[in-house]
Amino acid sequence: MTHRVINFYAGPAGLPLPALERAQEELLDFAGTGMSVMEISHRAKEYDAVHEEAIALTKELMGLPSNYTVLMLQGGAHLSFGMIPLNLLRGGRKADYIVTGNWAEKATKEAKLVGGDHVRVAASTKEQKFNRLPHPDEIKVGPDSSFVHFTSNNTVEGTQWHEFPQVGQVPYICDMSSDFMWRPFDVSPFGLIYGGAQKNLGPSGVTLTIIREDFLEMCEAQDLPSYLRFKIHAEKNSLYNTPPTFGIYILRNVLAYNKSIGGLKAIEASNRKKGELLYGCIDKHPGFYRGFVTEKAHRSLMNVDFFLPTPELDDQFVKEAKKAGMVGLKGYRDIGGIRVSAYNAVTVDHVKTLVDFMEQFVKVNG
Ligand SMILES: *Cc1c(COP(=O)(O)O)cnc(C)c1O
Repeated sequence: MTHRVINFYAGPAGLPLPALERAQEELLDFAGTGMSVMEISHRAKEYDAVHEEAIALTKELMGLPSNYTVLMLQGGAHLSFGMIPLNLLRGGRKADYIVTGNWAEKATKEAKLVGGDHVRVAASTKEQKFNRLPHPDEIKVGPDSSFVHFTSNNTVEGTQWHEFPQVGQVPYICDMSSDFMWRPFDVSPFGLIYGGAQKNLGPSGVTLTIIREDFLEMCEAQDLPSYLRFKIHAEKNSLYNTPPTFGIYILRNVLAYNKSIGGLKAIEASNRKKGELLYGCIDKHPGFYRGFVTEKAHRSLMNVDFFLPTPELDDQFVKEAKKAGMVGLKGYRDIGGIRVSAYNAVTVDHVKTLVDFMEQFVKVNG
């Protein structure tokens, strides 16, 4: 049997085994073509079926109303950081950014390169080292704002907006790279949602972008290079240029698998169970495991950051976990400690194995 470990990497991250097995089965002879999906034209009908299915599954799983377009682009969240202001901050428009972590800060920096003073910081928890989200009374959004940008899950720091920020009637633009489709939610306040696939949805190389009709209409810039224009990608159904066909194929496999296990409701239940197990263990041993996030309501179910009593014990924890078949637990370099990334593909059983290990580790070293 093939050797597989339990994967807690932050991104690229583990994929559901059945999605990989399907790729393995279909690799050499995809849909009766006698070729792999990587080796055929992006205009071939066999590829087109995959492309359409990935889009249809995104709409179905997220329950998207008909005024939303699904795009599958390249360049990761990083390119979107620039494309968003390039397309949307035209004609004197202004936007507010909520800065809650490393990635939100990068998004803001890129937006300012394009929009200058028209990009404002509505709130920041940098002074708190991003160990919590801003409270409602700390968020100041201008009435003239075209959108409020926020990061739904802060991958590095381990905070997550369980209730989206209160910003009045101003539409959201959201980077969902690390919690895309972790639960069902109402998309209607969102003008645009984007994220690299490589955390919760698939491999790197695909950027899933969902854009509302009125936001697409705002993208009238004619002077941008074509690839940078959302409107062109929408008009061409993400086939303006050669799309990342293999990445989209794997994304399709993941989404089809997610549907087969009961969709986002079932995934949410599993994610909540995983969170209860992990935070339950941390809270049971407050003298040994210390969470990075200071407010329980802001704790992420995707990335769980904590420290052991000493950096030496952190290292020992990572090493011994690896021996026990669990990888990817070392914290982000700027924060240290441990980070458990428990995205959709991580199962409740995987987390149970880790929590048993954590209990044993306290017994021996606590
Ligand atoms: C990983 C990550 C990014 C960066 O994604 P790229 O695809 O590498 O550009 C941006 N935002 C968040 C929230 C992330 O977790």
